[in-house]
Amino acid sequence: MSNDTTPALHVSSVSHSYGARQALEGVSLSVGQGAFCGLLGLNGAGKTTLFSLITRLFDNTSGHVRVMGHDVRRAPKLALQNLGVVFQNRTLDPDLSVLQNMTYHAALHGIPRRQARERAVAELERAGLADRVGEAVRSLSGGQMRRVEIARALLHQPKLLLLDEPTVGLDVGARRDIISHVRALVGQGGLSVLWATHLMEEINTDDAVVVLHQGKVIETGTSQEIADRHEVGDLKEAFDAMTGLAKGKAA
Ligand code: ATP
Repeated sequence: MSNDTTPALHVSSVSHSYGARQALEGVSLSVGQGAFCGLLGLNGAGKTTLFSLITRLFDNTSGHVRVMGHDVRRAPKLALQNLGVVFQNRTLDPDLSVLQNMTYHAALHGIPRRQARERAVAELERAGLADRVGEAVRSLSGGQMRRVEIARALLHQPKLLLLDEPTVGLDVGARRDIISHVRALVGQGGLSVLWATHLMEEINTDDAVVVLHQGKVIETGTSQEIADRHEVGDLKEAFDAMTGLAKGKAA
């Protein structure tokens, strides 16, 4: 079904409304295998709604969403097996230990207990948290909690990881630490990432970028290509011009 050229994520003509409010309109985008892709949008652009459709929290009744070639409606099991998610709001139980949070999640994925423990320890090692496995989550810093959530999202060895504004609420150092950790995971091979953010400094010039604005995709390309197309110095200037933020500043 999938081969090396199948996109890790393919979204085609997806729309979504909350009652009369149209949150997404004809959204299409692709994330290649082994790629880091930034999904850029201001608050309310539709990023979380898109993630809810990809993860099947909402049913997509228009267009298609495919994860590693598997349609999330027609083959949800296969699609979701290939998908890991880190939501914007923290979802760890602060009173359980780091390891308990991991193994509880593994059980939800049907991973046998012994294998779950082995994988949890391996993922926590990759996250640099091997010495914290027995500690209650509440004793960790915000950045360390995010690392646990990322490790947990990788327990079932997905090919695609979605992160919804994962650095919100973290200080600058912790933000840099999380993004370089995720980039390192991508660099180790086999993992694709869709990273939703409104922070341009989290995007490198050669990253693939999708700009979502008021529910529509208004630009795609590398950060550098987008800046060049808009004849400005960097992605931030291009983004401000596209979304009207530049006008707001001048006023
Ligand atoms: P943020 O970063 O602020 O979460 P976002 O880019 O993730 O923004 P969404 O949360 O997807 O954007 O919101 C897209 C649009 O849909 C907004 O206009 C929002 O007000 C609206 N919306 C989101 N969730 C609901 C809901 N449950 N009911 C009604 N409208 C909603």
